[in-house]
Amino acid sequence: MVTMSAAPKIWTRETGLVEKRDVWAAMRRGLRGRCPRCGQGNLFRAFLKTADNCAKCGLDFTPHRADDLPAYLVIVIVGHITVPTILWIETNYTTPGWLTFAAYLPFTLFASLGLLQPVKGAVVGLQWALRMHGFDDNPPDGIPPV
Ligand SMILES: [Zn+2]
Repeated sequence: MVTMSAAPKIWTRETGLVEKRDVWAAMRRGLRGRCPRCGQGNLFRAFLKTADNCAKCGLDFTPHRADDLPAYLVIVIVGHITVPTILWIETNYTTPGWLTFAAYLPFTLFASLGLLQPVKGAVVGLQWALRMHGFDDNPPDGIPPV
């Protein structure tokens, strides 16, 4: 049995017009903890909890799927800063053991915590700009939401 879709799509000049989304601007706004679309509303309601929607433009933030990507990116960034620095210091200078723990561990901890929210905001901004997951206003038919 063949079923017909409810309504055929009518293509007009306005059908192909979609909101332009600048990837870098959206990531910059997310990096600052602001809404990727308007840049004014807060993206976060807690440290790593995104708000449900933007207070200024009403953009729904719930479709984002940042998951573990921000944590992976923070590990890569902080690791690429601390490991070469520690290797350079340890090969060129003799440091006491207590100084190692007193300096390297807090730096790594605070750098990671400091970068986590901005990186998550940038990831959410990237997902919005690329219309990933539920951020696409006109998703293709037949693809279930993730
Ligand atoms: Zn907004």
